[in-house]
Amino acid sequence: MSETAVKTGHPKGLWVLFGTEMWERFNFYGMRAILTLFMINALMMKEADASIIYGGFLGLCYLTPMLGGFIADRFFGNRNCILLGGLMMAIGQFLLFFSASIFGSNLSLANTLMWSALGIIIFGNGFFKPNISSMVGSLYPKQEKTKLDTAFTIFYMGINLGAFLGQLICPIVGDVKDAGGIRDIHAFKWGFLAAAIAMLIGTAVFYFLKNKYVVTPEGRPLGGLPSKNDAADYEEGESQKAVFSQKALIGAVVGFLVLGIIFHYVIGQNWIYTVIYSSGITLAGLIISDSSLTKIERDRIFVIYIVAFFVIFFWAAFEQAGSSLTFIADNQTDRNFFGWNMPPSMVQIFNGAFVFIFAFPFSVLWDYLRSKGKEPISPVKQSIGLALIAVSYFIIAHNVKDLGNTGLLGIQWLILLYLIQTFAELCLSPIGLSLVGKLSPKRFASLLFGVFFLSNAAGYALAGTLGSILPPTGDKYIAAEKANIDLKAILDGEKVADGTELFTLAKMNFAKVNADVAKENKLDIEKKIKNIAQIKSEKELAIKNNKPFVNNFKATDTTFTPQELDMIKSKKVIVAEYPTFAGFTIKTLFDFFMVFVVLCGLAAVVLFALTPKLKKMMHGVR
Ligand code: GLN
Repeated sequence: MSETAVKTGHPKGLWVLFGTEMWERFNFYGMRAILTLFMINALMMKEADASIIYGGFLGLCYLTPMLGGFIADRFFGNRNCILLGGLMMAIGQFLLFFSASIFGSNLSLANTLMWSALGIIIFGNGFFKPNISSMVGSLYPKQEKTKLDTAFTIFYMGINLGAFLGQLICPIVGDVKDAGGIRDIHAFKWGFLAAAIAMLIGTAVFYFLKNKYVVTPEGRPLGGLPSKNDAADYEEGESQKAVFSQKALIGAVVGFLVLGIIFHYVIGQNWIYTVIYSSGITLAGLIISDSSLTKIERDRIFVIYIVAFFVIFFWAAFEQAGSSLTFIADNQTDRNFFGWNMPPSMVQIFNGAFVFIFAFPFSVLWDYLRSKGKEPISPVKQSIGLALIAVSYFIIAHNVKDLGNTGLLGIQWLILLYLIQTFAELCLSPIGLSLVGKLSPKRFASLLFGVFFLSNAAGYALAGTLGSILPPTGDKYIAAEKANIDLKAILDGEKVADGTELFTLAKMNFAKVNADVAKENKLDIEKKIKNIAQIKSEKELAIKNNKPFVNNFKATDTTFTPQELDMIKSKKVIVAEYPTFAGFTIKTLFDFFMVFVVLCGLAAVVLFALTPKLKKMMHGVR
C-alpha cells in the first residue's frame, strides 16, 4: 500500500479548491440575488420578462460547461480554464457594474451592457464550473476514492458558504431601501462591484496557490495542459474516451434540428430554451444509441436519464428563489427579522446557510443508515427530495391563502420554505452527481455528466417559464389603485379597461403589450413606455445629483391620440389578464404555489413508483 493510501485527512489542495469555489459562488449567487430586481427596477422590465431572462441565463450557465469541459480536456487543461472562466466572470460583473452605473442617463446602453455581461458570465461559468468540480475528483488517487463522498460534501459546503456570503454582502450594499420603503435604484451597482471583486479574489487564490497545493501526493501539478499532463496516467479513466461514428454524429445533428423546430415552432419555446431542451435530448440519444454499449451499461444509462428527467422538476421549483420568490419577498412579505427589515434579495440566503449547517449531518445520516443496511437507494432519496419540495410549497400555499390581495406574508414562512427545500436539495443534488459517477461507463462519464447538467439547465429554463406565471402581487393592486384603476375588477372581467387605463397598466408593467398587433397597427407602445421610463430615471438622477432636469422628449413621444387609445382597446394591442399555465388561470399566490405542489408531488410519486424497476436496472449499484 502506498504512503498516500494510509494517510488520513484530505489533501491541502481541497482547501484551495474550496476557497476558489467559495469566492466564485459568492460572485455568482450575490449577483443572482439582485439581478432580477435590477432588471425590473432599473432597466424597467416586466417581472415576467425578467423571470424568462433569468431562467434562460441560468440554463445557459449549465449548458456551457459541456463546452468548458471539452476545451479543457482537449486543449487548455483544467487550470487554465478555471483562470480564464474566473476572469471572464469578473469582467461580466464589471460590465453589470457599468450597466447599473449609467442606466439613468442611457437606458439602451445599459441594456446592451447587461446582455453582454450575461453572455460573458455564461461562458465564464462554462469554463470554470466543470473544471473545478473535476479537479476535486482528480486530487484523490485511486486508492483514496472512498474519500470522495466526504470531499464533495466539503466542497458543497464551500459552494454554499460562498452563496451565503454573496447573498449577505451584495444585498446589503446593492439592494437598499430607505425607511419609507423607497428603493435606491442607483445602489445595485455596488452589489455587482462586490461580486466582481469576489471573483477576482477567487481567481487570485487559485492562481497563487495552485502550484503549491493542487498537486498529486508526489507533487506533480494536476490539471495542466492535456498535451503535457504528466499526471494524466494518474487521473482515472482519462485514456478511455468515447468515439462516435460519423453516421451517429450526423444523426445527432439532424435530431437536434428536428427537435429545435418542434420546441420552437410547435411548443412555442423561445430560442434559448429550445437550444437547451434540444441539446439535452440529442446528447442523451447519441450516447444511448452507441453500439459499443452492453445491456447492463445501457440499463444503467437509462436510469440516469429517468432520474435526470425528474430532476428537471426539482430545479424548476427550487430556482424560483432568484425570481418569483424574491418578487414575493419584495412585494408581499413582512421582512421584519428580529427587528431588522431584511432586504428582499437577502431572504434567499437561508438556503446557503442551511446547506452549510446541514450538509455534514446529512452525510453522517446516510453513513449511519448504510451501516445499519437501511440506506435508501439513490432514486428513493431523490423522490424524497421531490416530495419535500412539494411539501415546502404546500405549506406556503396554505399561508398565503387568506392573505387576500394585499396582506403580507410573514418572513418566517419563507425561511421555513428554504429550510425544507434545503433538506430536499441535500437528498437530491449531491446524490444525483455521485449516482451519475457510479452508473456511467467510464468512456461516457463526462458526457453523461453533461447530460445531467443539461437536465439542470432544462430545469432552470422551466423555472423561468413557471416564474413568469406569477400573478400580480399586492404592490400591483395598490399601485393601480393609486392611479385610480381597479385592477382586480379588470382582471376578473367585471370591468372593461379603456385605452388610457391599459396604457397606464402597461407603463406599470402589469399589462401585456401584444408586440405583433401593435406593429400591425403602427403603434410603437414599447418605445413610448421606454421613453417614459427614461424620463423618469433621468429626472431621479438629476434630483439625486442636484442638477436641473431637461426633458428632451416631445409630448407625442410619450402619449397617444384618442383614436390610438381606442385602437389599443378595441384591437387588444394591450391586454390585462391573469397569467395561465396548461389551461389553468393563475389568479392568486395560492394557485401559483399549487402549481409546484402538483408538479413536484406528481414527480415524486411517479419516481417512487418506478424505484423497484430502477433498482433492477442499476444492476447492483445503489
Ligand atoms: N447550488 C449548487 C451550485 O451552485 C448546485 C446547483 C446545481 O447543481 N444545479 O453548485
